[in-house]
Amino acid sequence: MTPDTSEPRCGSASTRGVVLSGTGGVWRIRTDGGESLDASLRGRLKNRAATRPSEARRPKLAVGDRVGVEPGRHGGWAIAEILPRTSKLSRRAPVGAFGERILAANVDQVIVVVAAAHPEPNSRMLDRFLIIAEANELGARIVVNKVDLADEAETHRWCEPYERAGYPVHYASVKLGRGVDAIRAVLDNRISVLTGPSGVGKSSMINAIFPGLNLRVGAISESVQKGRHTTVGSVMVPLPAPGGGYVVDTPGLREVGIWDLPAGALDRCFPEFRPQLGLCRFGDCRHSLEPGCAVLDAVRRGDISVARFESYTLLLDQLVSGS
Ligand code: GDP
Ligand code: ZN
Repeated sequence: MTPDTSEPRCGSASTRGVVLSGTGGVWRIRTDGGESLDASLRGRLKNRAATRPSEARRPKLAVGDRVGVEPGRHGGWAIAEILPRTSKLSRRAPVGAFGERILAANVDQVIVVVAAAHPEPNSRMLDRFLIIAEANELGARIVVNKVDLADEAETHRWCEPYERAGYPVHYASVKLGRGVDAIRAVLDNRISVLTGPSGVGKSSMINAIFPGLNLRVGAISESVQKGRHTTVGSVMVPLPAPGGGYVVDTPGLREVGIWDLPAGALDRCFPEFRPQLGLCRFGDCRHSLEPGCAVLDAVRRGDISVARFESYTLLLDQLVSGS
């Protein structure tokens, strides 16, 4: 869409849209009318973002943000307004730096895809993704793809702790077309961050649900990033009608460590621990060796799975040692 200066516009009216990607200060916007346009951020909005020295170079705007755009003074389009966010997915900056890096705004859910086999599912890896979602107060669901390659009972056993923790688990085989409709239904009308290790079938899944979209999850962001000065890294892809919705591909999430999470906040990122928190004898209990620990008691009773507790312990060690 190119700016049409011949048509009179109401001074205050602006076109609303959503940010799909951003590279080198140019943001790709999809208007509510379904058109695409490129816009830059009004200087006024840029200045307000730079309240601290290290934030000056960091774009305040993120993929998923809803914005108001107006014709720019020198042609093109300008983002004149950023609407309030309902949620965000971010990683906090390393210790010593200011601010945070927002990977995506207005995210409704994080969908972590793993494979039942090839590659083997890895609970440590899955737990890390789930913790990132929890730390951002975002709902998460798990897709276990490639169920055709593994023993069904074994796959269900592996997933049991996650189902018990309250995560919806979708069993799927893109190859057999199994579970695909259910995944399409949860993508409808929502902004979903799709993540997981490579090779588990994320791209195959999206392309099976939306033939013709030809999406290569993981590759689009890399191509956007190539040879540019600044980038947000994340890319949001509109899904075809009638369901609509968006899938966010964010390489930042895949590479994120959880080094930036305070060790004391890790327990709250395990939903099945939460009923026990506050019941330990010591207020600052880390649930490792302390006497009177309600979390350990729940593990002994079988209310918390040993695998998830081991994951907690390992991650806690890493957070404490800073690795
Ligand atoms: P991504 O890296 O997560 O996007 O994974 P891809 O979509 O590229 O898939 C990796 C490989 O797994 C490809 O060779 C797919 O054909 C294969 N694959 C995807 N889904 C399934 C499935 O349900 N069953 C089997 N057996 N193979 C699958
Ligand atoms: Zn405890």
